[in-house]
Amino acid sequence: MEGVSKLILGLSIYGLLVTVGLTAIPMELACLAIKGDVTVDEWEVERASVDFGMMKRTEPLVVLHPASGEDVATVVRAAYELGKGLRVSARGEGHSTNGQAQAEKGVVIDMRSRSSVTVWEEEKYVDVWGGELWIKVLMETLEYGLAPKSWTDYLYLTVGGTLSNAGISGQTFHHGPQISNVHQLDVVTGKGELLTCSEDLNTELFHAVLGGLGQFGIITRARIALQPAPHRVRWIRVLYSDFSVFTRDQEFLISLHGKPASERFDYVEGFVIVDEGLINNWRSSFFSPSNPVTLSSLNADGGVLYCLEITKNYHEGNASTVDQEIEALLDKLDFIETSVFTTDVTYVDFLDRVHKAELKLRSKGLWEVPHPWLNLFVPKSRIADFDKGVFKGILGNTASGPILIYPMNSSKWDQRSSVVTPEEEVFYLVAFLRSAVDNETVEYLNNQNHEILRFCDDEGIKVKQYLPHYTKQQQWKDHFGNKWDQFYQRKMQFDPGCILATGQRIFKPPTTTSNDV
Ligand code: FAD
Repeated sequence: MEGVSKLILGLSIYGLLVTVGLTAIPMELACLAIKGDVTVDEWEVERASVDFGMMKRTEPLVVLHPASGEDVATVVRAAYELGKGLRVSARGEGHSTNGQAQAEKGVVIDMRSRSSVTVWEEEKYVDVWGGELWIKVLMETLEYGLAPKSWTDYLYLTVGGTLSNAGISGQTFHHGPQISNVHQLDVVTGKGELLTCSEDLNTELFHAVLGGLGQFGIITRARIALQPAPHRVRWIRVLYSDFSVFTRDQEFLISLHGKPASERFDYVEGFVIVDEGLINNWRSSFFSPSNPVTLSSLNADGGVLYCLEITKNYHEGNASTVDQEIEALLDKLDFIETSVFTTDVTYVDFLDRVHKAELKLRSKGLWEVPHPWLNLFVPKSRIADFDKGVFKGILGNTASGPILIYPMNSSKWDQRSSVVTPEEEVFYLVAFLRSAVDNETVEYLNNQNHEILRFCDDEGIKVKQYLPHYTKQQQWKDHFGNKWDQFYQRKMQFDPGCILATGQRIFKPPTTTSNDV
């Protein structure tokens, strides 16, 4: 069987490389012994050429479906040893927005090709394949009454994909991002070595890979911390018209991160409402039609409202006290009194909430459209200036999608990881999750994103992009700031051929020619 796969791999790569004229490459790759398969199927190649953003398209030569971490290592090692700058990118669910998982004329490794979840009940952790979806991790761990601690808002993302960024949501203020909740990883470096790494073993690689934008290795296994899973979630939304009151309350709520569960919420997020349409946007389908809310009825300041979104988890053991705990916390907040919206759902329904919105959008043909997203970390000291200049200024009462805003604490982020955050203890995620249905709107929204970044630059607001996207290496140097030297050295150590995740456009293999990265 292995021989057959080997032959197929050999023929596919050989045939393809001959077709594109790279006749010097094939023999090394043609002799690989792998258990998975390689395909040049038109549909597969097309799928690997695009992503959720639908704004960038780059064709790979082949798509690899690995059967194991060893397969990944074999192919990366072969590409590295060729020394021809053959690009290799892991692709999770392809939910990037700017081609980050693409590999121009290279190999895209489809990490969704296999699945493996092993729960260690006593130890309270789970070992998962790097291409596993978070929804699967949730469903499997729930069988043991356990669940990961830190989430993203949407669960149809892979473990390797979110750990390459950070993985954030309303739990981050308490548990830290997903990358702060990993015990161990198996990683295939850019030299094709398959290494286990953790706090104590291959430490540099461990920290490099977490938030490393796929630059240092491909995560084939992650060991993720678990906790007892709650049964239900009380999910509350309240509105504010005054931004300073809104942020004061959000910051107060995240300052409770060290308190016992009974004295804090489990999740703190929020969003900005700049036009009527957005009150029932895809991210906020929570408001029921029988309870309509309008901006005009709530005296929105400058046409803008802010919604605080909080939850309290509970189970049979504390169901009788949950109302009291929520009351005590809400009493300390200063939202518009008539604007409390509460619902009660299962833990799974809460965590999987965005998927429901996805299904609705899909049914209207509004999911597979371009997504010119912009995600920023804004330091707390300048968030009011950001509000004035952007929410009440540049946006001009149209958002084209949800705008999330919530604060997090730097102390919950491990500064040894590759991620960069603003240099303040508290910073906000501001996420412009835009959709565009035609090219004109894509251009308009991309221009507006640039205008927002220019505004921050001009005003000296030191934002950092989350899920960053740049096209010049100097921009990446500015992004990483004083972490750039370390980032560069780690690259030279773990992927000296610069063949991994070139779709991020941070480094390019030295053997290629174009000016941009
Ligand atoms: P891909 O797009 O496939 O890959 C992303 C990058 O990671 C690429 O460079 C790729 O080469 C690399 N990569 C992929 N797999 C591996 C691996 N196994 N090892 C090493 N590198 C790898 N993010 C949040 O933090 N919080 C949110 O709440 C959130 N919500 C989202 C909601 C939606 C609807 C969408 C589309 C995205 C959201 N994201 C969120 C962003 C998301 O976390 C990132 O885009 C993530 O990279 C997507 O995972 P993926 O599996 O699709 O990765």
